[in-house]
Amino acid sequence: MQNQLELYNTLTHQKERFTPYHPPLVGMYVCGPTVYGQAHLGHARSAINFDVIYRYLKHLGYQVRYVRNITDVGHLERDADEGEDKVAKQAQLENLEPMEVVQRYTNSYHQDMALLNVQPPSIEPHASGHITEQIAMIQQIIEAGLAYAVNGSIYFDLAAYQQHHAYGKLSGRVLEDLLAGTRTLAGQTEKRGPLDFALWKKASPTHIMRWPSPWGEGYPGWHLECSAIATKYLGKQFDIHGGGMDLLFPHHECELAQSQAAQHTTLAKYWLHNNLITIDGQKMGKSLGNYITLEQLFQGSHPLLDQPYSPMALRFFVLQAHYRSTLSFSNEALQAAHSGYLKLINGLKIAKKLTYVADPKVSIDQLAAKQIHQYADSCYQAMNDDFNTAQTIAALFKLLRYIHDLKLGKLQPAALGPAGFERLQSTYTTFVEDILGLQEEPRATPEALLAVLLKLYRQAKQQKQYDQVDAIRADLKQLGIALHDMPTGVDWSYEG
Ligand code: ZN
Repeated sequence: MQNQLELYNTLTHQKERFTPYHPPLVGMYVCGPTVYGQAHLGHARSAINFDVIYRYLKHLGYQVRYVRNITDVGHLERDADEGEDKVAKQAQLENLEPMEVVQRYTNSYHQDMALLNVQPPSIEPHASGHITEQIAMIQQIIEAGLAYAVNGSIYFDLAAYQQHHAYGKLSGRVLEDLLAGTRTLAGQTEKRGPLDFALWKKASPTHIMRWPSPWGEGYPGWHLECSAIATKYLGKQFDIHGGGMDLLFPHHECELAQSQAAQHTTLAKYWLHNNLITIDGQKMGKSLGNYITLEQLFQGSHPLLDQPYSPMALRFFVLQAHYRSTLSFSNEALQAAHSGYLKLINGLKIAKKLTYVADPKVSIDQLAAKQIHQYADSCYQAMNDDFNTAQTIAALFKLLRYIHDLKLGKLQPAALGPAGFERLQSTYTTFVEDILGLQEEPRATPEALLAVLLKLYRQAKQQKQYDQVDAIRADLKQLGIALHDMPTGVDWSYEG
């Protein structure tokens, strides 16, 4: 199955057969969050899309080293080369140390990812922990004659780079067009060219996050950390680089240029980009102020939300679209996603309990057995076709019909034969649980469930059904909960 996977490579603008450099090993790098605020729907989409890619590659038997960074330094306001560091600015607002801000939002990002059942990456490096590697890469770029120093800052020299390489080949942008669109007047910037970008910035006297370098005290440019970190853990040229479409330009274009300049590689063989979440046809994003944080979504505490939505409803919402399609936010779409998720997860409960019973009196239903194999094949075909989770889900719903028929007794397990039955059960459970990563969500808290039991206990007492009363009492005792009959009602406590 491994050699049938095809994926769309942004670098070559076409779908390609996936052939990693050193199978069964696969190196994958995905740009992680800048940790200065709560994660929002855009973060969730990228994380879920690449989680499913990670899970599917592992399912195919690859040993994946998945690196996703934490940006904690160098990401300036408006993604520019001037202005305040996003983390430092937030630290000032919250009256915290920058690294407290980093820790706070890294923790909350991890909590959100756990709720979404997004698996942690193999390595999660911080930009601030890799300053040495970034300085070394800048030196390589300077030695290649593709960067220059001005007043303690180092800039990438696009004019020099452009003589031998094509800046813009990843995003499909043309340098001349980009230059025509810039409005910087001569003398307003210390850069030689308006599109040159910072590799290292000199720290102003008030700048908190600063490190010593051969060029004086400063901090690295935002794009540099990804090239340096990816190279450290995955090598100069590895298999997959991923991220959101909003990072394609300039971030990924700059990453690629840096790696080309420092080590003569495109950094990754395959560049993958997930599309964005839109709202009323507009990109949802922090800079536009129309974003919804995951916390707001789970609590229903945003004016755009009619109700709270669970993490699995969001996960299904993301996966019912192909990762390269835009995904339009609406309450209706999230409600539909929630009911779709419930159907699949209820099917999973049934599928896990089904057992095969041989019965010579039952004849094989050839058509059903054949269709089950077809739909199971469709699950793989869809995932092999550039990770088309939308079509995978459609095929799973076809398989779900047979699972219901088995439950209702309309279809006997023996009618599918052992192979057909096994294919149905294993394909359905593997895809829903392991590959799409959907899991059961508790619908009620333990306290609410206990309240239901206490109500039954009280009713049994009123009706003098003492066998029932003793049974409930004994069962709860088994679970470490003791019931106490008080004049005011029934109380309970944990029991040792
Ligand atoms: Zn990056």
